[in-house]
Amino acid sequence: MNGEDEVMRARALVLHDLEATGIADPTVVSLLEEAVASRRWWVTQWAKGTEYVAGLVAQDVQDELLEARGRWPLCPKCDDATHALYIHPEIGGPDPVWICETSGTVVAPLGALAPTTPPPTP
Ligand SMILES: [Zn+2]
Repeated sequence: MNGEDEVMRARALVLHDLEATGIADPTVVSLLEEAVASRRWWVTQWAKGTEYVAGLVAQDVQDELLEARGRWPLCPKCDDATHALYIHPEIGGPDPVWICETSGTVVAPLGALAPTTPPPTP
């Protein structure tokens, strides 16, 4: 696949998951844009890296969010959802998925997190 196409696909997948989890405000989207811009450069340097881009952009955004907002995305499967999901395979690869390391299960492919319903306001 063309590197630029894959970078744009990565952006769309991660943006979907940010929106699904309800945190895609302008600050967070700009974190995503920065991650996409640096990985776009990276793909031009290493064409074979194309298939790793989606997982890496997700991990970059996850790292930035940990500093800015805390853990993301929180696990939607476990009752005490205070732990984050992780990209698998961790080192990058085609078709990355979100996994819960606590239960050891695949939660969703990257870009397919289910929308979370916000807690009801009293
Ligand atoms: Zn979990």
